[in-house]
Amino acid sequence: MSNIKPSNELSFLQAGSLIRRGGLVAFPTETVYGLGVNASNDKAVASLFKAKQRPEFNPLVLHLVDAKSAERLAFVDEKTKMLIRRFWPGSLTIVLKRKPEAPISELVSAGLDTIALRVPSSPIAHALLRSAACPVAATSANSSGMISPTIAAHVEESFGNKIDMILDGGKCTVGVESTILDMSEEQPVLLRSGVVPLEDIEAIIGRVERKDTKESIRHYAPKLSIRLNAASAKKGEALLGFGDAPDADMNLSRNKDVTEAAANLFAMIRELDKGDFTGIAVMPIPEEGLGVAINDRLAKTLIQKKQDNSKK
Ligand code: AMP
Ligand code: MG
Repeated sequence: MSNIKPSNELSFLQAGSLIRRGGLVAFPTETVYGLGVNASNDKAVASLFKAKQRPEFNPLVLHLVDAKSAERLAFVDEKTKMLIRRFWPGSLTIVLKRKPEAPISELVSAGLDTIALRVPSSPIAHALLRSAACPVAATSANSSGMISPTIAAHVEESFGNKIDMILDGGKCTVGVESTILDMSEEQPVLLRSGVVPLEDIEAIIGRVERKDTKESIRHYAPKLSIRLNAASAKKGEALLGFGDAPDADMNLSRNKDVTEAAANLFAMIRELDKGDFTGIAVMPIPEEGLGVAINDRLAKTLIQKKQDNSKK
């Protein structure tokens, strides 16, 4: 049986409740269909990456009902406020520094101290977000490597019954992805071209640097060095366990569940990074399911660290 539901009051209520409880719901925005989860729920966010079968953790975009919610989650400066007044609700995604108290899973930001925010203009997206009454993290509702979906049937092709509901809102009116602008540093940077033209943004805030997300994304790197595939900790090191590990300082998943490990990864590394250790030894994580993305991110963390050290 198909889990595509027509948009109406009842399905909005069901979809909102599913999201609050940790489910996966695909919904239309004016740009493309998004696959959304409760952004405060680590496990739900991990299950989104699992469904998407992404071999790596890309940060997700937080979809909000209004601009006020943005100020509760991130630091919004004056220039950004001008952009928000002009382009929200709409197809501009803005990357900002997240507030430390923001109740958003670290996995949404892939461990970064920034967060991408958008208030979509689609009335159906709006109704869903209102019903969910929690920040919703979403990514385009296609399996990794497939093009972004603009009708409900595309979403079904990618996910079938692996997700809890597909809200049908017909064809996305815009059908092109949102523009992504990084406002987290002094100099605004365009991370992805999209619906909102760069000239319109520059007319408001002045010169914007152009970069491609793939090159410009800095991966989260802890202060401490990380050692992979460790059987045990050396003197002074913290041990981040996986599976049975009575000596571990923290454990990604005692049950060897890679999805649970993904849900815990960034929060645990951050926690250990604050402690009085000389480094973090991570026990082996199998290359299956989200284990691939976990190992990819840990390896990139090591590369980032080398680059940072060589700049010093
Ligand atoms: P998609 O998930 O396909 O809709 O694409 C969302 C895009 O937003 C991805 O390319 C992400 O890399 C980018 N993105 C989300 N959050 C951030 C962030 N905190 N910093 C930089 N880029 C981000
Ligand atoms: Mg995409």
